[in-house]
Amino acid sequence: MRARLALGSILLIIGFLTYQTGISIIRDQNTLATPYINKIISYLTISQNVFYELLVYFGGIVVIIGFLISVSTMSTPKVIHVEKTIKPGSKPTPQKVSDVPSCKFCGASITEDDIFCPECNKALK
Ligand SMILES: [Zn+2]
Repeated sequence: MRARLALGSILLIIGFLTYQTGISIIRDQNTLATPYINKIISYLTISQNVFYELLVYFGGIVVIIGFLISVSTMSTPKVIHVEKTIKPGSKPTPQKVSDVPSCKFCGASITEDDIFCPECNKALK
């Protein structure tokens, strides 16, 4: 999860730098990276303008990919690790509901024959 986020961030930065370099070279033909890029171009058999435009497109695509990777790590639902509190071997105690009758007003335990609750004296029937 963190590796993917880091990869996405790195791609974002690389893509952005590539894009910016391409844009700035096209705009004023002179950046810090220009001599290095011209050296690369001299080895390739493509024209400078094509290479600069490729830089921009490549940078843009890498930015989009990096962005998508970063976003996908955030939107992926986290696997919630639920620890079971019930220890193996111990059975969960079933709640007794209807075994002992209780007053519907105060919850005090009553008997079936009680007409009035012994605690709150309200009429049960
Ligand atoms: Zn009661």
